Amino acid sequence: MTERQHAAYGASNAHRWLVCHASIKEAAKAPPRPSSRAAREGTAAHALLEHCLKTGVWDARPYIGQAIDPEFPIDDMMARGVNTCLDLVWRILAENPGAELHVENQFEIPSLAAPGQVYGHCDICIFVPSNGWLIVIDFKYGYDVVDVKGNPQCLHYGTGAFFSGRFQNVQALTTWICQPRAYGTGVTEYHTYSVQEVYDFYARVEQAVADSKAENPTYAPSRERCKYCPANTTCAAARSAALVTFGFNDVKQVGEAVIPAPQDVDIPTMAHVLAHADMLRGWLDAYETHAKELLLQGVFIPGQKLVEAKQNRAWHGEEEQVAAALMRLIGLTWDEVMPRGLIPVTEAEKLAVDAYKARAPRGQKMEAAKAAREALAFLTHKPKAPTYTMASESDPRPAVNPVKQMFAGVVPSSSS
Ligand code: SF4
Repeated sequence: MTERQHAAYGASNAHRWLVCHASIKEAAKAPPRPSSRAAREGTAAHALLEHCLKTGVWDARPYIGQAIDPEFPIDDMMARGVNTCLDLVWRILAENPGAELHVENQFEIPSLAAPGQVYGHCDICIFVPSNGWLIVIDFKYGYDVVDVKGNPQCLHYGTGAFFSGRFQNVQALTTWICQPRAYGTGVTEYHTYSVQEVYDFYARVEQAVADSKAENPTYAPSRERCKYCPANTTCAAARSAALVTFGFNDVKQVGEAVIPAPQDVDIPTMAHVLAHADMLRGWLDAYETHAKELLLQGVFIPGQKLVEAKQNRAWHGEEEQVAAALMRLIGLTWDEVMPRGLIPVTEAEKLAVDAYKARAPRGQKMEAAKAAREALAFLTHKPKAPTYTMASESDPRPAVNPVKQMFAGVVPSSSS
């Protein structure tokens, strides 16, 4: 796998610099960090996908056991994840005669404020000349659910492709996110934009780029933006945003302060703390991650040290052999040493979708996946008694008021 040159105004960090314009100069000052294990695993899965697409492969499973990156040999999960994306791409191509496939292309947004610096590498781009349909597909191998509507990374690729001059008479842009390991939202999601919306995004990019070069660019700390920002341990704005939650001016006040118990604060104070809780957690996480990196490099941090993590014992050998030995040793039955249980619903759903799709003829894979989910629905139910979880006001789910629901029908409403 070849190392890529990353753009300052890249697509994968567009969610950050489009809002926190100052992150461009803060990230440039921050010390370099090694890539995470999750990022390296994602790169390996992308390399497998690229290979399959470029060689016309429909099924990645024959590659199981081989390795493009020796750190991450191809396993069943990686092959099936890549297959999800392959199914989508080959289906779109089959259903749109004359469609062109472009794999791992660099697309640049022609910024006047930063020429040659606003570009990204798009996993998959498909263009259908007959109706001017431009499609970009972003493959994600992580577990975090990513929303597709308004997704800045996909819009960055799509806008770059739109302005590349390679696709004539574009009528609409569809961005697709394929995220096979993020359960709960379906494995592929898409959103379609008009040409006007592409121009609107371009204008937003230009405005953000221009402000990032100003003397006092905009800072916009938030949990999701600061979490992976290269400057999250050095940026004063992120530090202040976390500290002011509890009325601190300086990080050294943290040890001396008496933080009030939740029962002792009024509702507005509680609302303020909760609104900034993610920020505070993210800031502490960033400190712990950075401190561990420094300790691993041998840097002395007063009051902290590295110790060997507790290793849990694991069975040695094949499961069946160990189970048989345990039965002989302790005199237990097979079910006592290897209790059987149903697999989780989400796992069963994935297996059902795979099985239905494998049986379905080419071009009918989507319908087969839908049929599999409908068949499984008869075997599942949701508990009737609701459980509650707290969410911020911006969460798309409707708010519920259990007290109001309890007294519904008892207290007449004011309008009646
Ligand atoms: S740490 Fe947060 S506030 Fe600071 S530059 Fe990065 S994204 Fe912006």
